[in-house]
Amino acid sequence: MSTHAPAVETDLSAVPADADDAPSRHAAVRRTFAVISHPDAGKSTLTEALALLTGAVHRAGHVKGKAGRAGVVSDWQEMEQQRGISISSAVLQLDHRAHVLNLVDTPGHADFSEDTYRVLAAVDCAVMLVDAARGMERQTRKLFDVCKHRGLPVITVVNKWDRPGREALDLMDEVAQVTGMTPTPLTWPVGVAGDFRGVLRVGAEGDGAYTAYTRTPGGATAAIQEHLSADEALEREGETWTAAVEEAGLLTLENGEHDEEAFLAGRTTPVLFSAAVLNFGVDHLLDTLLDVAPSPGPRPDAEGTPRPLDTGFSGQVFKIQAGLDKAHRDRVALVRVCSGRFERGTPLTIARSGRTLTTKHAQHLQGGARTSIDESWPGDVVGLVGANGVEVGDTLHGRGAVEYPAIPSFAPEHFVVARPVDLSRSKQFHKGIAELDAEGVVQVLRSDLRGEQAPVLAAVGPLQLEVASHRMASDFSCPIRTETLSYSVARRTTPEWVAPLNSQRGTEVLQRRDGDLLAVFADQWRMNGVARELAGVVLEPLVADA
Ligand code: GDP
Repeated sequence: MSTHAPAVETDLSAVPADADDAPSRHAAVRRTFAVISHPDAGKSTLTEALALLTGAVHRAGHVKGKAGRAGVVSDWQEMEQQRGISISSAVLQLDHRAHVLNLVDTPGHADFSEDTYRVLAAVDCAVMLVDAARGMERQTRKLFDVCKHRGLPVITVVNKWDRPGREALDLMDEVAQVTGMTPTPLTWPVGVAGDFRGVLRVGAEGDGAYTAYTRTPGGATAAIQEHLSADEALEREGETWTAAVEEAGLLTLENGEHDEEAFLAGRTTPVLFSAAVLNFGVDHLLDTLLDVAPSPGPRPDAEGTPRPLDTGFSGQVFKIQAGLDKAHRDRVALVRVCSGRFERGTPLTIARSGRTLTTKHAQHLQGGARTSIDESWPGDVVGLVGANGVEVGDTLHGRGAVEYPAIPSFAPEHFVVARPVDLSRSKQFHKGIAELDAEGVVQVLRSDLRGEQAPVLAAVGPLQLEVASHRMASDFSCPIRTETLSYSVARRTTPEWVAPLNSQRGTEVLQRRDGDLLAVFADQWRMNGVARELAGVVLEPLVADA
C-alpha cells in the first residue's frame, strides 16, 4: 500500500527551507520526548516540576492529581473517572528558551506498557528516570529495551537524590551494565544521596561550575538556585565539593565526556541528577533537552526513504482515546506530525484505506481544557476529534502520499476467549471488538478453528483485558464473558506451519489484524517441546521478546 509520489518533490519547491514558515524551521526549535520509568520513580513529579519551571503552572501539584495506588483495578477505574484529567496531560507543550518541548505522557501502570511502547514510536528521545535508591528496576529495563530496539537516544536522570540511596558511581556501573550504554554525566551531585546540595556542571560546556539549590516549602515553587564558580563552591562546600569533583573526574576519565554523535547512535547516555519533588536539577534537564536532544528530523517511510520536513503534511496515529467526553462519545486520534504543516480544516488521506478525513476538530490536549488548534509543526501532537475509520499506526497525509512503517505490536502474554453474555447482541459485539482492536486496547486474534463468534483477546498486561470487558459493557452495551486460555508465550510463524502447529497438543495458531500469524504456547518449555517435534518450524520472537 506504500505509495511514493513525485508530488513530494513538487511540494519541496513550494516550501523553501529558508522561508520563515518552513516546517524545518519550526522543527529545529522543537523537542519531542517521553519520560520512561518504573512506577513510583517520580515521572508525574518530574512532569510537574518541568511544568513549574517553564511557567506552564505556577505551583507544582496541579498537572495530575494522583490518589493512592490501591488495587490495580481500582486504579484504573479511578483513571476512568478522572479521564478529563488524564487527557489533559496526554501531551504537555512547554516553552523554554524560545523552544517548544512536547512531553508525551506515558501511562504509569505497567499493565499498559503496550501504550507506552506506542508513545515511544512517536517521540525522538526518551528520558529514563532512575530511583537513586532502587536503581534500574524491572519496568525501566523493559522500556529501555524498547528504546534500544527503536534506536531512540536516552537521557538518564537519577531522581530522589534528596533521599538516602546508593552511591552515584555504583549507579553508573549499573546503568552501563544493564543498558550497554556508556553513561556520560552532564551534572554530578554535590552531597551524597540524602544530602543533596546542588550539582557540579561537568564537561567543557559545564565548565566545572556549581549550581547550588535551596528548597522552597514542599517544593511547590521553584527552588532557589545560585550559580557559583568552582572556587566559590570549594569555599562553601569544602570536602563535599572536592569529593564530587573527584568522582565526576574519575568517571569522565573512564567514560569520556558527552559525545553528541555517540548519544544519538545510542552508544552513550548523558546523565543528570535530580530531586524532582524539590525541583532540584530539573533546570539542567530542560537545558539538556534543548542542547543535546535531537529535533524532529525526516522520518523514514515504510520503504526506508526519509520524508523531508519541508513538504506536504504527514503524521502517524500513535494512540486513540475513546469515550473521553461521555456526553459526546467522542474518539480522539493522537497524531504525531512528521512532516509539513498541519492546518485545521484541510482534509487528509488515511494511507491504509485511501479514505478522506476531515480535520475541522483538531485539538490540543493540554491544561485541563481541550483547545482548538489551528496549525502544528513536525514533532507536535494533534488530537483529531471524531477521527472515524482511523486505527492506531495509521499514516495520515496531505499533498504527497506517504506511509510510515507500522508501529510494531508486542508479544501478548495473556489470552482470553470473549463471547457476548447476550447472544442476541452479536452486532454490538462485533462492532465493539473491532473498535477495541483498532484502538489497540487489546489485540484481537482469530482462527478458522475458533470461528468469528469467539475471538481471542490478547494483551501484554492483564489490566488491558479488564479495560476491554469494561468498555464492551459501558460503551457498546454488550457485556462479555471471558474464558482464560492457559497460554503465555507467542511467536510469529508462517502459513505453511499453521496446520502442523495446530495438530500439536497445547498449541494453536491465531491471526492478528496486521496479518501476523501467532503460534501460542502455555510456556517456554512447551514451545521448546513443539520445536523439537517439528524440525525447522518457524517461531520468530516478537518485539518485546527481542
Ligand atoms: P510515578 O509513578 O513515576 O509517576 O511517580 P510519582 O511522581 O507519583 O512519585 C512517586 C512518589 O515519589 C511520590 O510520593 C512522590 O512525591 C515521590 N517523589 C518523586 N520524586 C521525588 C524526589 O525527587 N524525592 C523524593 N523524596 N520523593 C520523590
